[in-house]
Amino acid sequence: MVFTNGAPLESQMEEMRDPADWRHYQTLAHRMVDDLVADMDALRQGPVWQPMPDAVRHYFLSDALPAPAALDAVYQDYLRLIAPYASGNRHPGFMGWAQGAGLPAGVLAELLMAGLNMNCGGRDHVGIALERQIAIWVRGWFGFPETSEGLFTTGASQANFIACLAARSVALGEAVRRRGIGAARLCAYASSGAHGCLDRAMDMAGLGAEALRRIPTDGAHRLDLVALAQQIAADRRSGLQPFMLIGTAGSVDVGAFDDLSALAEIAHQEGLWFHVDGAFGAQCIHSERERHRLAGLNQADSLAFDFHKWGQVPYDAGFLLVRQKSQLLQTFSSEAAYLTREPDGLAAGEVWPTDLGPDLSRACRALKTWMVLRHTGREAIAANVDLSIGLARHLVRRIEQTPELELLAYADLNIVCFRYRTAQPDRLNRAIVRQLHLEGKVAPSTTKIRGEIAIRAAFFNPRSNESDIENLVLGVRRLGAELEGTTP
Ligand SMILES: *Cc1c(COP(=O)(O)O)cnc(C)c1O
Repeated sequence: MVFTNGAPLESQMEEMRDPADWRHYQTLAHRMVDDLVADMDALRQGPVWQPMPDAVRHYFLSDALPAPAALDAVYQDYLRLIAPYASGNRHPGFMGWAQGAGLPAGVLAELLMAGLNMNCGGRDHVGIALERQIAIWVRGWFGFPETSEGLFTTGASQANFIACLAARSVALGEAVRRRGIGAARLCAYASSGAHGCLDRAMDMAGLGAEALRRIPTDGAHRLDLVALAQQIAADRRSGLQPFMLIGTAGSVDVGAFDDLSALAEIAHQEGLWFHVDGAFGAQCIHSERERHRLAGLNQADSLAFDFHKWGQVPYDAGFLLVRQKSQLLQTFSSEAAYLTREPDGLAAGEVWPTDLGPDLSRACRALKTWMVLRHTGREAIAANVDLSIGLARHLVRRIEQTPELELLAYADLNIVCFRYRTAQPDRLNRAIVRQLHLEGKVAPSTTKIRGEIAIRAAFFNPRSNESDIENLVLGVRRLGAELEGTTP
């Protein structure tokens, strides 16, 4: 590196080194932890979310990196410019999309993880052993065999994509990695309620998003089995090569579970890779009451899910479980001189995570997951799954008691879609949700049910309770009445 300002290299390097005064660093570290604990403790008193003022937005559009400053000063900027404007999913009033809140145990785990700063792409160290440990637990929960292997990913989107690549290499053989898909016309199947990341997975796998055939759902929002059989037959007749069937365990809009046993059987008969997207719904495995929804999942070739939604591990922590480790190796392993394995030493270990997925450098997501799981146990996850479903059922009852409100979809899980009744419901209900966000007490999101806008409340957060539901119901009623006159 060349420094043009004439300062000696030595003084430029000073800031890259360990602190000159560890005592000072320690004081600051304690203050950060104290502030953060106080902040978490007072979470409910603050807004779910608040918009960044213009000054803050502008601050983050500056062209130049500010001059180096003491860590204390940078921390003051964090407190002023960043902490107040976070995404809100920690807050008990957050009920939008499908997000986890994160647990205090995970906060400390993140700190420890950064302290060790392990690169979990490979080599022989405890970060790799931790990831294996989680994979062994996970395969036990879901009834997968010992041949299976698991891998942390950023999220379920990436896990679904990796599963798609594995299914592709099994369908077309290993040569697809060198030659591409050529003239092959692969196609896959998922319900119309399946997550949009699946279309993107097909696109990114070079198959084109239209390779995902969207099958209509039945009255319970489940993939319609008759329509599926018809589509597979029609596709075969027109020369396509069906290769993958994707079941959804907990759909993002309404929380519906496809009939996984039936899908497993169809996949088996048709010779298709059977994948399950259980992004949040897979956590039902921990609940004695809800586990039945996942019947048939143990026959899947692969499962994608997140620890960062209903599992409450801090972002990000997605996971992919594949029935045959060899299929992941066939999809990803490659030779590189700089990654040569040795019988012992730090370069030991036959299979590294980089042989099983697309990443080389990887964070140790296993540590925070291990700490949260060790601390809460499966029982607490189960209790929160049951609690979230209980809150959703309570909201359904409140909607039914409130004449101004109309239930649009409920699949008996943790997600409720409803709206304020009015002549022009789409505009008004979108306006209600925007205003709720600005008021900062509760933050639901919106979706479309049968083409019409719904207010969507999804419960994942163990901090939420019935008072948050009351705030939602009262807020929607009040804003519905207020905005009705003003929204054209
Ligand atoms: C959230 C979600 C995804 C995407 O998961 P990310 O972790 O956000 O990548 C996929 N499928 C379903 C059903 C989801 O709810």
